[in-house]
Amino acid sequence: MSDNSAVVVGGGIGGPAAAIGIRLAGWQVTVIERTPVPDDAGAGISLAANGLRALTTLGVGEAVEAASRRQYTGGTRTPDGRLLARMDGTALERELGAPILGIPRAALHRILRAALPADSLVIGAEVTSVDTTGPSRVRVAYGDTILDAGLVVAADGIGSRLRRQLFPAHPGPVYSGSTVLRAITAQPVAGLDADFEPTWGRGAEFGHIAFPDGRAEWHAVVNAPAGLRHPDPLAEVRRRFGGWHDPIPALLAATRPDAVLHHDVHELATPLPTYAAGRIALLGDAAHAMTPHLGQGACQALEDAVTLASALGAAPTVEAALVRYDAERRPRSQTVARDARRAGRMGQQLAHPLAVAARNTAIRLTPSGAMIRTILRHADWTPPRIAPARARP
Ligand code: FAD
Repeated sequence: MSDNSAVVVGGGIGGPAAAIGIRLAGWQVTVIERTPVPDDAGAGISLAANGLRALTTLGVGEAVEAASRRQYTGGTRTPDGRLLARMDGTALERELGAPILGIPRAALHRILRAALPADSLVIGAEVTSVDTTGPSRVRVAYGDTILDAGLVVAADGIGSRLRRQLFPAHPGPVYSGSTVLRAITAQPVAGLDADFEPTWGRGAEFGHIAFPDGRAEWHAVVNAPAGLRHPDPLAEVRRRFGGWHDPIPALLAATRPDAVLHHDVHELATPLPTYAAGRIALLGDAAHAMTPHLGQGACQALEDAVTLASALGAAPTVEAALVRYDAERRPRSQTVARDARRAGRMGQQLAHPLAVAARNTAIRLTPSGAMIRTILRHADWTPPRIAPARARP
């Protein structure tokens, strides 16, 4: 492979996005994904304006908007249906040009993959090692194949093998204390008035994101010991949440039992000291896996992708580009990760009845402008331009 060739390890969300951006910067890119069938599983993703702006810079914003539902209505409620705070999607749209978007994860995947040449994606291949072999070469091994590249992007997710290899002393991901059961309904749900509606009980949240076709993803997040599993996950969600306000029972009634996914939520609680090692860049959950309490994990991976591509186009050397990428991305993404942890502690994870009551009162008294400003703090991000790199020696 030439010096302007890159290998992206991981074909989730950040990997394909990075590949699209790096190609715009003038590189040849190969994406290697271990799952034999590209990951069309998963539930829904909410994309705030920063994620959409990144996707627009990559040239896929319109396709993503067309496959998404704009989240205008909804708000935070208590289990009996009392409204704590209204979500004002119109105000967000006024401020940012877009409200939050709701999209099935599979649709986002398909759009990202379609923006790449089919032969740039190698699937069913697990990368086993990455080694720097010279001043300008990195060697990537998978199966019996070895690729030499001028840049490697580690977008291999929260359990990143490459992160373990590069930072052997780092403690890795830790359990957040929350476990999440989620699904997409099999059919449109009658009476689904709100586009987006988290409901907070004691140490528990039930939320939904509506899609354009009337179906919705729902997620039930609860405090639980790591590894706890249920023989019938849907029955367990019905037991815990079936008595909560409408439309929660209808969402559960529209769900097939085999559609329910169950994952413990982990995060990189110890921040990485750098996202760059020579000609290897870490990106997305591999660099900064965060809890889902702000719905920002994928959005931050998309910001990484655009920032990396922009730096590669602008900096004189790959090493300089990666230093710049690290300097621009680490502070912001680690701040968002810390805020997501805090949001979880004050929101879904809060369990003591007095603390819950005090929190709910505080939310009810908070003016909606202040709520909007909190969302803006994370969602208002301006993507850098991606320009093709000048020819490198
Ligand atoms: P991933 O999407 O995990 O992709 C990593 C890929 O690398 C995988 O496909 C994996 O198979 C592959 N891989 C791993 N190892 C290897 C290897 N050795 N060789 C080859 N391939 C490999 N974010 C939002 O912005 N909005 C939301 O609403 C939202 N909701 C969420 C809800 C939940 C319950 C959770 C858990 C997360 C949520 N997130 C959300 C976060 C978001 O899903 C992640 O941040 C995002 O998927 C990170 O993208 P990634 O590409 O870094 O990692």
